[in-house]
Amino acid sequence: ELGERSYEIVIGDSLLQQVPDLLAEAGVVSTSKLMIITDEHVAVRYLEPLRDALRAAGYNAIASVVEAGEQSKSLAVYERLMTEAIQGGLDRKSAILALGGGVVGDLAGFVAATFMRGIDFVQLPTTLLAHDSSVGGKVAINHPLGKNLIGAFHQPRVVIYDTKVLHTLPKREVAAGFAEVIKHALISDASFVDWLEENAARLWELDSELLGKAIERGCAVKAAVVSADETEQGQRALLNLGHTFGHAFEALSAYATLNHGEAISIGMCIAAKVAERIGLAQRGVYDRTKHLLSLYHLPTAWPKGLEPQDVLEAMKRDKKTVGGQLALVLPSAIGQAEIGKHVDEQLILTVMSEEAEAL
Ligand code: NAD
Ligand code: ZN
Repeated sequence: ELGERSYEIVIGDSLLQQVPDLLAEAGVVSTSKLMIITDEHVAVRYLEPLRDALRAAGYNAIASVVEAGEQSKSLAVYERLMTEAIQGGLDRKSAILALGGGVVGDLAGFVAATFMRGIDFVQLPTTLLAHDSSVGGKVAINHPLGKNLIGAFHQPRVVIYDTKVLHTLPKREVAAGFAEVIKHALISDASFVDWLEENAARLWELDSELLGKAIERGCAVKAAVVSADETEQGQRALLNLGHTFGHAFEALSAYATLNHGEAISIGMCIAAKVAERIGLAQRGVYDRTKHLLSLYHLPTAWPKGLEPQDVLEAMKRDKKTVGGQLALVLPSAIGQAEIGKHVDEQLILTVMSEEAEAL
């Protein structure tokens, strides 16, 4: 719910065929050219079926395929896509379709936000993690000095989530997606946490009924938070649980050894430990957080080779920092979190050093 920029999140099995109808309902016109942006892994599986469906409905779409991986969220790839959009004849009524995971969604969304000062875009998420990234309108590319430092707020016209495509995801990416599902539970609802614990085995096997529910619940938490605070003046920061630590891990590992979900998994564990240490959360929150993440095969131990002092410096460069002051999101209980917690740097460093030594 965002006033006139409100949009539907459509979740279902085998929705790719219905994309043209859903586009028409969302007001995307077929008189202007569309541009599909996707990555190489997704393209080989799902690009042609999507193009066929669009063609049959009278839409004319060009397609750009980028390399898979975080390195595509770069200025160089952004420039190439802009060139292709201009040469391909897109105009102000055109729409960009992001077919892929969070990388494609963030990148394509930033192209859409800035091409001719902003054109329509549509999210067609293909990873579990993208239940988070496709909703909320944050779009960005990375700078070598930090993640998501170049970006915009640009809401999609519609999010069309075909859950069937998740069956071709590598298990490591399934785990990464569950990290954000777990985050949504941890910040909002203890019963959602219980449910994720009880159903971990079936969810891990992508049981379609349970998976649809998990995505719906996760999207509902995200949508509610974003509707209340679109541009992150306050409560939206709750969604950053584990992210100040996580972004630092990602940047310091050059986006190579840890993916986003893995990095925030470890980040949520450290946030829980800090919360217990300052007396914000009772003992047990850390253990339960760690256990839940491990049920979904996520890493919870300190990332080997990283120095706590370097992590602290990288955290201060993250854009969640204002005036050099770290303001953390920390759990106050299972299913609850608080924003803007100023914690003594020395204490953060001590907790991180303990984790690093525990390896
Ligand atoms: P991703 O887009 O790189 O996808 C992960 C891998 O899975 C890639 O290799 C991709 O090619 C492959 N893949 C995607 N769909 C597939 C499918 N159906 N079958 C087989 N393979 C498939 O990564 P991600 O985890 O989806 O997204 C991570 C990115 O999302 C990060 O850059 C992160 O910063 C961003 N993010 C953004 C927001 C936001 O609000 N904008 C929120 C969370 C995360
Ligand atoms: Zn995230």
